[in-house]
Amino acid sequence: MSSLPAHAEPVAFPPWLRSPLASLVALVQSRQPPPGLLVAGPEGVGKGVLIRTFLQRIACTEAADAWSPCGNCNGCRSFLADSHPEILQVAPEEPGKEILIDRIRAVIDFLSLSHSGPARLVSVQPAESMNVNAANALLKTLEEPPEGAMVLLAAARPARLTPTIRSRCRILRIPAPDSALVRQWLAPMAREGLTVDEALAASLDRPMAARALLDDPEAIEGWRQDREALETLLESGSPFPVVARFQASDLRSLLPRLQRLLVSAQTCLISDQMDAFGRLFEREALERFARARGPKELSRLFQDSLHWQRDLPTSLNAQLRCEHMVLRFWRRDH
Ligand SMILES: [Zn+2]
Repeated sequence: MSSLPAHAEPVAFPPWLRSPLASLVALVQSRQPPPGLLVAGPEGVGKGVLIRTFLQRIACTEAADAWSPCGNCNGCRSFLADSHPEILQVAPEEPGKEILIDRIRAVIDFLSLSHSGPARLVSVQPAESMNVNAANALLKTLEEPPEGAMVLLAAARPARLTPTIRSRCRILRIPAPDSALVRQWLAPMAREGLTVDEALAASLDRPMAARALLDDPEAIEGWRQDREALETLLESGSPFPVVARFQASDLRSLLPRLQRLLVSAQTCLISDQMDAFGRLFEREALERFARARGPKELSRLFQDSLHWQRDLPTSLNAQLRCEHMVLRFWRRDH
């Protein structure tokens, strides 16, 4: 397989996505695209980048090779403006919200139109966000697809899709990439005050999140707030300053990091080692925090934090939620 040239984007296309991209392009160019294709791979592996690059490559009329879109032709421009007549990208209105049946009805209408390019293409990401009605409506289309229709579903947790949807899709699996390859890809993006190793640890080893942490001001600010919240949790003798810090953070990014911190505290207690995430914090503070709770309490807290994360989409009052969570760290039986 030839490799993708790296010039198409300011940041090189992730090398572990080259071969999946080539397979996607080949599928469409075979003129018999499968009506459903499930792109399955862990959170942050680059499913979104893969699908966007693929869709743009199909939109592009001036591509110099089989893989990279030119970025300048009318096809690329209309794709980038989200107004391409034969390509539709569907996502929740806000991150974490459901994709509702109205959106899927629009997909079905869109797919029923005729096409002049190789296919009418729709992406749904994350596919697990479809609610039951939306998924059932999409299933009907996958069972009786209009000619030339191709729906790409991206999922980090494909088991959450109904078995009937999964059975209607061809599956393209994106495995977690080799960590040396990820480090090599991120190396040119390292910036002052944050090494690649730190960015990967802070991003829970998700390559795309680490990349954002190295160049996206919003992600950098999010990490700064989460880190301050977790530092305050480790160092504070009372819950109140911690509640304020938790309230300033976005729980969607904070909770997975909190879970990771609890694992680091457990590791520190059991093996006297600091893991990569633990090393982002003061050793003494982490040790003190871990010893004060002990292994059983740490694992109970970890279990609780999984529940908090699961209940996030339905919890209405974030302020109360933060108080409840933080007080849990001070409620101990001894
Ligand atoms: Zn183009």
